Amino acid sequence: MNILLKNISYLDVTNEKIVRNVNIHIQDNIIKEIYSEDKKLFNFDYIIDCSNKLASPAFTNGHTHLGMTQMRNYADDLELMTWLNEKIFPVEARLTSEDIYYASLLSIIENIKSGVGNVCDMYDSIDRVSDAIIESGIRGSISMGLTSVSGDVNKKLDKLYSIYKEYNNQGSGRLKILPGPHAIYTCSKEFLKMVLDLSEKMDNRLNIHVSETETEVNNCIKENGVRPIEYLNQIGFMDKKIIAAHCVHLNKEEIEFISDKEFYPIYNPTSNLKLASGFTDIDYMLKNKIKVGIGTDGSSSNNNQDMIEEMHIGSIVNKAVNSDPKSVKAIDVLRMATINAAEIFDVDNGEIKEGKLADICMFDLDSISFTPQNNLISALVYSANRSDVTDLIVDGKFIMRNREVLSLDEEKIKYKVRELSEKLLNC
Ligand SMILES: [Zn+2]
Repeated sequence: MNILLKNISYLDVTNEKIVRNVNIHIQDNIIKEIYSEDKKLFNFDYIIDCSNKLASPAFTNGHTHLGMTQMRNYADDLELMTWLNEKIFPVEARLTSEDIYYASLLSIIENIKSGVGNVCDMYDSIDRVSDAIIESGIRGSISMGLTSVSGDVNKKLDKLYSIYKEYNNQGSGRLKILPGPHAIYTCSKEFLKMVLDLSEKMDNRLNIHVSETETEVNNCIKENGVRPIEYLNQIGFMDKKIIAAHCVHLNKEEIEFISDKEFYPIYNPTSNLKLASGFTDIDYMLKNKIKVGIGTDGSSSNNNQDMIEEMHIGSIVNKAVNSDPKSVKAIDVLRMATINAAEIFDVDNGEIKEGKLADICMFDLDSISFTPQNNLISALVYSANRSDVTDLIVDGKFIMRNREVLSLDEEKIKYKVRELSEKLLNC
């Protein structure tokens, strides 16, 4: 399949500039060539006029819980531990794999509509989450949320490994399965070691929540005599690739310590603001050249899957916290959602560049958000919203075209989620 995106402008995230009016040739799943002159001789399957489109590398939502959409707007304005223990955990105990499957599909549609081509998820019933990813056509690093609070831990690890063997690299390599020990406060030290051992039989990377709240840090010091980063280091986590959600309460020493490790903080600004968890020191992380990712978190703590909004909030909140408008610029959050994510999740995308995977989202340059066109990088982060996203290409295939999701039946999925939520929350 050969597609030509004709007369398109695109974000060159590496050189921090917008390239105007070029042609992008996509061959199968690769960006084959980017050129400015007309090449009429090539026999394209599709030639699409993109003269009013701005392309960006498709975004990666670096941390979410797709299956939590059933609990969207179910329990709000509560402190994290009250929210988790009194509201979320009791409902989660009743969740079926069908609930999680449809909730995941709905979340994936929401992600697609904000230009997301790759998600990092942590939840339960990950075989069904994986099915949802494969059907949708996007990419996913899907981790099984593991705790040692209850249940047979050996059984959980066996189940994870059998799902890994069945699903890892499925969907033409779009799907990755990884262990997701939930957090240090829901996993014992022995269990964390067991998960670490299992990760060696998998791809040597893990997804975990780290230092989300001050309470978590204080309890770790009380119980283990050290802060969470040192605790994880002592267990052996720093020898692996770690995708670490939140990292709100990392002090300067901890940030310096992780700077030469394969430890990647994922910034979740909206969730951290809404749950009043605190402010991540993104400035100091960037100063230490840490490749930070960015994600929405689940729809019951955000309460949406809108990466455009996430980048916007992620940028401006730092300016206020640091009393410095130069802090965390538009291009910084765009890098988190694209080129940094490519490194974090080992996918050869994140840039619109010849030879890279064809993962591209497009914005409507005719919209109010992009008028006038003074600075399109600023417009992407400070003015745009997800209704400006028109198209999404993942792995060389159109997943959304003219705002219509092609791979999934949006109406049917909304109907199913409404029906299942009613059953789940009213019993
Ligand atoms: Zn989370």
